[in-house]
Amino acid sequence: MTKRADLLGMTPEEMEKALGRHFSHRDQPRYRVAQVQRWVLETLAPDFGAMTNLPGEERDALTKSFSLNEPGCAMVSRSSDGTVKHLWRLEDGELVESVLIPGKGRMTLCISSQAGCGMGCTFCATGFGGLRRNLTAGEIAAQYRASQRWSMAEGLGPISNVVFMGMGEPLANRKALFPALTILNRGYDVGARRITVSTVGLVPGILELARRPEQFRLALSLHAPDSELRRTLVPLEDRYPLAEVVGALRTFDAAGGKRITLEYTLIHGVNDHPVQARKLGDLAWDLKAFVNLIPFNPIPYQDWRPSSPERIQAFAAILEGRGVGMAIREPRGRDIDAACGQLRAEALSGGRTVRGAGAE
Ligand code: SF4
Repeated sequence: MTKRADLLGMTPEEMEKALGRHFSHRDQPRYRVAQVQRWVLETLAPDFGAMTNLPGEERDALTKSFSLNEPGCAMVSRSSDGTVKHLWRLEDGELVESVLIPGKGRMTLCISSQAGCGMGCTFCATGFGGLRRNLTAGEIAAQYRASQRWSMAEGLGPISNVVFMGMGEPLANRKALFPALTILNRGYDVGARRITVSTVGLVPGILELARRPEQFRLALSLHAPDSELRRTLVPLEDRYPLAEVVGALRTFDAAGGKRITLEYTLIHGVNDHPVQARKLGDLAWDLKAFVNLIPFNPIPYQDWRPSSPERIQAFAAILEGRGVGMAIREPRGRDIDAACGQLRAEALSGGRTVRGAGAE
């Protein structure tokens, strides 16, 4: 049996062409294409059977030729702070996570681009497990689709922002990331400025993203203001030293109106000294970047601790004194292990029971 083409992995233009060919072979009117596209991209129909304004034989024919390949829900965890984490099971059994984070007037979805991750960052639960495989564009975009439907059904409202800060290094999977960005932006109508790609510093990917005409946001997962410390936290420093990454950020900035954010996880006694705050302040000032300070979320493989509130305040005061725009982010969903990769790591190690779809 030939594999059915997954409509969820197609850009709107690809979907239009594929459906156009399909309905033309079946002597169907052209408006069928727009009908199906609306069901897929606006109504978020779970299957072709739900497309009730199409004749039954057309729904059957679509089912034979195409799939709507959404991941199955392996587990849902709700935090007392409103954060909701989904553990998704992909077609081949791989597990990936996405997180819904409610905020003032917004709902942010954090999605995964890879099953596991090969970057090996020493503060990250996903990094310890290594890379399992890249996700397809459809598997990336389907996390949005499934989360949006879930959020609406639960009365939590629509997703307003998407961040690629879940499992994986998105710019290491550009073959799927770039079409997924198009699908989210032009297919599901998420504004480019509301989509943030977060990287640990893959220079060729940053440069490629800078060449995109849309104003996607970029976040650099920095965590260290100099090469020496960065090498201990982000092994990618050996391939792309900080100076080269900063050069790529300048190119991204020069590409016009694209705000850069520096993400800085504060680990007690590791990267939270005043001297590091001053270096970070200089770097952020130079790049006109916004800084997010994030207290470290402890992970099973490290005995590091988050910085104390006093040290975080002192660190933040130095940045503010330098005139850098910054925010201290509250750790979200700690009670459900919402830091990158933790739920999956626990599920794989048997630390939690992975329950069936819809179980909460
Ligand atoms: S922090 Fe991001 S890039 Fe680094 S190991 Fe974790 S998922 Fe990969």
